Amino acid sequence: METILVLTHADETGSALTKASLETVTAGLELAARLSAPLTIGIITVDATAAASALSSTGARLLAVSGEAFAQARYASDAAAAEALCRAAKATIVLAPGTSRFTRVAAGVTHRLGGFLDTHITALGGTEAIEATRWFYRQRIEAVLSRDARPWFLLLDAGTHAAFAGEHGAAPVEQAAIQLPRLRTTVSGVRAPEQGQQTIRPDAKLLFVAGAGWTKKQHDGQAHPAEAGKLILGFLHATGASLGSSKSLVDQGGEGEPVLPFLTHMNQVGQTGATPRHAKGLSTCCHGEEPHVVGWRFVGERRAINLDPNCGWARGKADVVYVADAFEVMGKVNAQLKAAKA
Ligand SMILES: Cc1cc2nc3c(=O)[nH]c(=O)nc-3n(C[C@H](O)[C@H](O)[C@H](O)COP(=O)(O)OP(=O)(O)OC[C@H]3O[C@@H](n4cnc5c(N)ncnc54)[C@H](O)[C@@H]3O)c2cc1C
Repeated sequence: METILVLTHADETGSALTKASLETVTAGLELAARLSAPLTIGIITVDATAAASALSSTGARLLAVSGEAFAQARYASDAAAAEALCRAAKATIVLAPGTSRFTRVAAGVTHRLGGFLDTHITALGGTEAIEATRWFYRQRIEAVLSRDARPWFLLLDAGTHAAFAGEHGAAPVEQAAIQLPRLRTTVSGVRAPEQGQQTIRPDAKLLFVAGAGWTKKQHDGQAHPAEAGKLILGFLHATGASLGSSKSLVDQGGEGEPVLPFLTHMNQVGQTGATPRHAKGLSTCCHGEEPHVVGWRFVGERRAINLDPNCGWARGKADVVYVADAFEVMGKVNAQLKAAKA
């Protein structure tokens, strides 16, 4: 029989589990129920009390590795913690969220335990054998994997399962024995864009995509990049949407054309960019060519604003296309958002 372990870690508050961790808990509960296998949830955090309370209704065995050393992401302490939890749980199947923290240590921990690792898992199926699904070739081919090797580590993509949310309650947590190696890395702090400047928000409900049209000459014969920037940032601030971009727009900097300074290649969506998962997407001033739209594969409801009624979106790639000037539309949308907030 399989023994399933779900690895989780706390968010930047240090006590609550990350959303991706809670999504993996859901995947673990579903898999354990299907295989009638025991489930252990491993928690890596400073203090596991709050996380354990949030997980009490899962009925799973709760194991923790906690203490100041686990407040921050660091290879040596995170790898030691994950290894200790795997050994204590005697896990044959290890599910972990594909967060930067776990992605960094997963291969090393798998190697230490003599196991096998698969990443970017989007679904788990099967009743007899475990079937793990992932996409290859930029989300063009979907494959279903099964393996005999154990322990089998599976890193789950964020957004593929609902986040676990159950009644809070008292729950016993066992501490896993851990021998920390000498820690050579001291985390002195985190340098990150100020709140409000960070435009990539994987947990946002809406993806707002800006295309090259925002910096192209408009009907008055002039380009209006400053106004474009104001409209886009105004919308993002008002809605908390995540900002995506077409390749043409983020490539423009190198061509000496007008640029939107808050965009980088990290925002690029598409074949050579990201494939984010959001419930809704709004594309603006973007043509909707296939190499871009392939990155929208997992976006639920799609809408586009384009002056061109014959743009790519209008050819079956969007649910709704507004044939309109995005400067005018977004100006009015922002005004309505402002009025609604006031
Ligand atoms: C191998 C390969 C990989 C690629 N990978 C990617 C990728 O990962 N991501 C990606 O995005 N692209 C990718 N591309 C490029 C892709 O084919 C397109 O060139 C790119 O997506 C076009 O960007 P765009 O739609 O923003 O710009 P454009 O094609 O210039 O379109 C601009 C659009 O803005 C509209 N517009 C202008 N003004 C307004 C206005 N006021 N209101 C409303 N609409 C307006 C215009 O009608 C036009 O449709 C790749 C190409 C190749 C060959």
